[in-house]
Formats: sequence, C-alpha cells, structure tokens
Amino acid sequence: MHVILVIAIPLLVAIIYQGWRSTRKRQLFVRRLFWFELAVWFAISCYALLNGAYWLLILITIPFLDSARSTFRKSNEKDLLQNFVDDPRHCGQCEYDLTGNVSGTCPECGWNIPDENTMIEDDNWTKWWIKWEIGYLEHPQKQLHFHALLGLVSIAIGPWILLSDPHHPYFGYTLFLVALFALLFLNCAINTIRIWAYIKKQRDSSPD
Ligand SMILES: [Zn+2]
Repeated sequence: MHVILVIAIPLLVAIIYQGWRSTRKRQLFVRRLFWFELAVWFAISCYALLNGAYWLLILITIPFLDSARSTFRKSNEKDLLQNFVDDPRHCGQCEYDLTGNVSGTCPECGWNIPDENTMIEDDNWTKWWIKWEIGYLEHPQKQLHFHALLGLVSIAIGPWILLSDPHHPYFGYTLFLVALFALLFLNCAINTIRIWAYIKKQRDSSPD
C-alpha cells in the first residue's frame, strides 16, 4: 500500500502544480488523466479512513478537489488567448481556420482576434529547469506573495509531520513526506527569487 502512496502523492502534487489553464491542449490531457486521479484519490481515501490518517485524507483531498475544479472549468478569455498563441492559424475560441482573415474577428463565432504582439504568461513559467528567465507575468506582485507564502508553509509542514508522528511504523515514509515538502520549499524559494528578479528588471527598464 505504501508503494502506491509513494507514487500517488508526487503525482497529485505534480498535477496541482502543472498549471491552472483550461486551454484546448490542456483539456484534452487533463480530462483523460482525471479518471486515473479519481481512482488514486479513492484508493488513498479508503486507506486513510481505515487507518485513521485524517491528515493524509486532507492532504490528498485538497489537490484532488482543485484538480477536479480545474479539469472541468470552462475556458476563460485568457485560455482562449493561450489557444491562439499556441496555434495562431486557428480561432482561439472555436478553432475555425483563420488563414487569410484580415477582418480582426472570427467569421464563425465573432471572437476578437488578438494583436500579433500580444503578451501572454507562459504556462510553464514556474518550471525554472526549462527556462530560468521569466518572459512575462500578468500579476508579478501577487505571484511573489503567493510563492513566498507557499514556501514558508511548506518549510513549516516538514517539522510538523516529524513532531506529530515521530514513532510512525514506517518512518522512512515520514521522511519521504518531509523530503517532499523540503523540495516544494526549494522550488518556491527559487521561483520567489526569479519573480523578484523579474520585477526588478521591469522597474529598471521602465522610463520613470
Ligand atoms: Zn471562432
């Protein structure tokens, strides 16, 4: 059973962390994955309830509910824009072929076709191992606060798990969880530095 947990928890963390968009590309992927997530969540929940591990139940239910919300959420204007950036030949809303269209609106659904130079947040911007420098952030201050706070919370959870359950029969498993939150902290710390550098660069390059 613990092997399943070792696989499932990072999986759920990865799912919650991979992005919030509901783009065409992402919908295709997450809606297939969702049934697997549901099965994993159900199995772990049963295990947690039978063993009275309520903290585990909470730990997996929060990302699961968030994943469900994001999986079945309707596309918003930002998602449509991302569809268009991913594939500028087709309408971001209805996927109609826009080749040769100069009117500025989609003839099929009336969506306003954005400017060529429209800036959009890269869905993968938190993944520093792909690209270190952040290209564009819509709400840099908000992101800075969020990542700093998440980092602080994750560094506090490790000692809390250790102190609350030091005699767990599977101490290796406890250590695994602690290591997981340490990694989350490290990731948040790195991203906080990157966002801070981005904000500084924006300030330095602005005329006033
Ligand atoms: Zn359209």
